[in-house]
Amino acid sequence: MTLITIDAATHARQVSQLTSIKNAVIGILSAAADNAKNAAGERHINDIEIHTRGYVEPGCENPGNGIVLTGDWDECSWEGRVTESYGGITDELICQLLALGVELRWKQQWIACTACKRLLRINPHTQGWKPHYWYDKRSCKYVCHECLPHYMSGNCPSHYDDVFDLGDVVDAA
Ligand SMILES: [Zn+2]
Repeated sequence: MTLITIDAATHARQVSQLTSIKNAVIGILSAAADNAKNAAGERHINDIEIHTRGYVEPGCENPGNGIVLTGDWDECSWEGRVTESYGGITDELICQLLALGVELRWKQQWIACTACKRLLRINPHTQGWKPHYWYDKRSCKYVCHECLPHYMSGNCPSHYDDVFDLGDVVDAA
């Protein structure tokens, strides 16, 4: 395995770049929420989540600028036609966000791991897809396949619910 290390200056520059793009995204979303045609449109925008930890889903490369937005993009068709039912997520908003280089994902299909905050897919998109997470039915939270072993001790039981305390995960995150 090859370890890739970066110096402190490079790290600081990356953090600074991530922060400035994140702030730009927040500014664009705030303005769009203020200009939403109606309450449903405003709620649609306010429900958009900004993720800065990338993906933990196998085969999924992190976006170049480090930012993924999850939302319900239903309001906007990708062919450029805006439906009349909502007044929030417009084609213009989508274009502004894409111009920043962020990636847009559907919130019904992607969710952040409770522990590491990286995004994992929770709905199939191909026939061969398999889930790489554990779902806690009691708390309705998701833990990715990489985080799960850290919180397991001893033998891996067949039924995680009995031994897995999600509180440990939240504290460690
Ligand atoms: Zn995780």
